[in-house]
Amino acid sequence: MYDPNNVFARILRKEIPCKTVLETEHSLAFHDVNPQAPVHVLVIPKGAYVSMDDFSARAPAEEIADFVRAVGETARSLGAVAGGYRILSNAGANAGQEVPHLHVHVFAGRPLGPMLSRRD
Ligand code: AMP
Repeated sequence: MYDPNNVFARILRKEIPCKTVLETEHSLAFHDVNPQAPVHVLVIPKGAYVSMDDFSARAPAEEIADFVRAVGETARSLGAVAGGYRILSNAGANAGQEVPHLHVHVFAGRPLGPMLSRRD
């Protein structure tokens, strides 16, 4: 179930501000408010989708193509390609998803360490 009052829905309605990196017909990229790397940008679809599984099941092909291109264009426009970057999308409880609107994190600007933290 999509919560229309989640923080990214409110950004899309311009009820709260964001630092935009890129905007396309179906997607928006903006700086994360609490960056975990020198470059930390979020890319979201403008449609009401909770996660990648939800988006891939319900979104029209045009929105999916726009979103995938927006992620790549964001990495290019941030100058992240030469040094390398990581994309990540949390979905659900085990992944610790905080905002229930699909978002892809784009991290760059320093060595990003192991892909997952190890369980002790
Ligand atoms: P996740 O844990 O994958 O759901 O990540 C949610 C991300 O949204 C976190 O990195 C937060 O710092 C970020 N975030 C939360 N509120 C805002 C906001 N108003 N503007 C930009 N980023 C935000």
